[in-house]
Amino acid sequence: MAQVLDTDVAIVGAGPAGLFAVFECGMLKMRAVLIDALDAVGGQCTALYPEKPIYDIPALPAIEAADLITNLETQTAPFDAPRLLGRRVTGLTGEAGAFRLSTDKGDQVTAKAVIIAAGAGAFGPNRPPMDGLEEYEVTGGVQYYVRRREDFRGKRVVIAGGGDSAVDWALALKDIAASIAVVHRRPKFRAAPEMAARLDEAAAAGAIDMVIPYQLQGLEGEGGRLTGVVVATLQGEQKVLPADVLLPFFGLSMDLGPIADWGLALERHHLPVTPATCETTMPGVFAIGDVATYPGKLKLILQGFAEGAMAAHAIHPIVYPGKALHFEYSTSQGVPG
Ligand code: FAD
Repeated sequence: MAQVLDTDVAIVGAGPAGLFAVFECGMLKMRAVLIDALDAVGGQCTALYPEKPIYDIPALPAIEAADLITNLETQTAPFDAPRLLGRRVTGLTGEAGAFRLSTDKGDQVTAKAVIIAAGAGAFGPNRPPMDGLEEYEVTGGVQYYVRRREDFRGKRVVIAGGGDSAVDWALALKDIAASIAVVHRRPKFRAAPEMAARLDEAAAAGAIDMVIPYQLQGLEGEGGRLTGVVVATLQGEQKVLPADVLLPFFGLSMDLGPIADWGLALERHHLPVTPATCETTMPGVFAIGDVATYPGKLKLILQGFAEGAMAAHAIHPIVYPGKALHFEYSTSQGVPG
């Protein structure tokens, strides 16, 4: 049912950055409403890689993405922010102190400030141009995300790509799958050097078949069941890799959708912000996480967390005009509940 809500801060996007912003707003006694197009919170962590371990969250040496989101939910729970899930924010009008947001389900939210934490917007995988792809996408012969490692037990897996996802998943699946082949068009991988080194070690030990320099060429199968992936060199030499599943990891395409029409400056599908405050070119509208850009920006979860804190502090004078904000550590402030 469509809802009408009034709040201090409307947060568009419930990925890790948006979730943590609820906490930061709460600590400054600002009410927040969290809105996401997906049915669940967690953004890319939940939708794309819930079982992938993350190694670069400060003070958590390794945590699976789904557990990180569970922890963030626990951390934000005391603030009891209303959530509008399964709703895409389509409209933003008004000005600092009095914004109106509308969703595709007819919800209306009024807010004094807005934080856009929309990540890659409506994200989708970049698909390799291959005949018959759709047929195998339906049957699971071609998949773009690993949601459950167990689904790949005993399967012959071909991974294509040269970035972090290709490397991380080759390593994470090598002890589960019947075989792993990694197809890449050049020997160098654009992955964390430590993980790329581990890939080389696994290949040298015979646990992973490196198919280099090759590119995807075609798919072979019977009745929708994938049996092989055809690969070729630039010179046209072809071979067939036996396969039950192809995992092409060629990155995500970004579609900011309606956000691009809200009158905010855009820079290659991102929202430029003032680094010290995370404010966009529209006063009172802030952007944090993957969607925000400024010189030196790192698209990492830890960066999105820090930006949530900076945005909340910058928003405080909009919500409490004329009231001084005395900086306090969380220990002295305490958390409700
Ligand atoms: P997102 O997680 O993208 O969430 C944005 C949310 O906004 C989405 O849920 C979307 O539905 C919603 N949204 C967008 N538009 C609207 C709208 N109009 N209305 C309502 N909702 C909207 N980072 C690390 O730090 N360490 C890692 O090890 C790591 N590994 C990764 C592995 C993979 C395979 C991928 C794909 C990414 C990885 N990342 C990693 C990157 C990390 O996931 C992102 O930096 C992080 O998710 C960004 O968080 P966010 O909250 O800004 O956006």
